[in-house]
Amino acid sequence: MLRLRRRAALLGMSLAMMAMLLPVGVMAGSPGDLLPDLRMAKPSDIRLTTGTTRDGPDRRLLRFSALILNVGQGPLVVKGKRDCATSACPEMRTAQRIKQADGTWRGVATDRAGRFDVGDGHNHWHTMRFQKYELFQMEAPARPLLGAKTGFCFFDTNGHRLDLPGAPQGRVFTEPGCGRASSTSFRMGISVGWGDIYGWSLPRQWIDTTGIDDGRYLLCSTANAEGDWLETNTANNQAWAEIRLLQNDTVQVLGRGRSACSSQLAGPPAPVGETSDASAAASTVTAQTASALQSDADADADGGGGAADLGFLCPIDSTATAGFLNGA
Ligand SMILES: [Zn+2]
Repeated sequence: MLRLRRRAALLGMSLAMMAMLLPVGVMAGSPGDLLPDLRMAKPSDIRLTTGTTRDGPDRRLLRFSALILNVGQGPLVVKGKRDCATSACPEMRTAQRIKQADGTWRGVATDRAGRFDVGDGHNHWHTMRFQKYELFQMEAPARPLLGAKTGFCFFDTNGHRLDLPGAPQGRVFTEPGCGRASSTSFRMGISVGWGDIYGWSLPRQWIDTTGIDDGRYLLCSTANAEGDWLETNTANNQAWAEIRLLQNDTVQVLGRGRSACSSQLAGPPAPVGETSDASAAASTVTAQTASALQSDADADADGGGGAADLGFLCPIDSTATAGFLNGA
């Protein structure tokens, strides 16, 4: 009886944890929608570096590469638009463009803003909170540390599943789609079967671990964490790496997986806190320590690229100038 009750409690706990960690409130698609299906490859290229951030010099930064993939029926397409090309219009409003089975498109407006150059030095526009990076303490998962990068321009950098129906054999979305300072619109996306990699060395592709205790931690990456974008399946949006951080500035990778992060934690995490999104500080990588136990041997099977694949990140296609909600 006690055991049953404990199992029931554990089940309830794990469901509650899933609710906290996975996107909720995703709107249902409409008949005819060819929706994307976003998921994360396992975090790779995990390492500690020392760098300067807005919090000062000599910060201990946990860096890693993150690859987001679209294995759905249609491309993920996000359009941004603003009414003027000056600082009087600092943000773009965004809409998801959804390809239809009959070849037409429909638009779904979101409240996720587009912002220009949010500190990564890319001189282009970003969609905010496209991915989320969190670091949980394994044994007592309190409030996680959050990744510094929260603005993303995504485009086709890595062919992954080009055998999927509807997968283009070449890149459709490329960096120019992210726009420039004077742009009044952008159009970014990830094609069916393609992914967008954010390499470990990119600006703000880190979680600041300065001063935290030695021990086991769970690095968790989540696609579409806020449920902003319609997709066919939000149960596959997380990937994780269990790591051990040591004060001698080494990190050991103990395991990696592509399941719900909550399944790896000892207890329910506290509510997620605010991010350091406002930081505009650049990092200077001055040291790099080994990710001794990590193997990238499964990177290919996972769709993950190594450091050689470092993409510059963001997209365009030939229909970028079409109408915001009604065009392609
Ligand atoms: Zn960027």
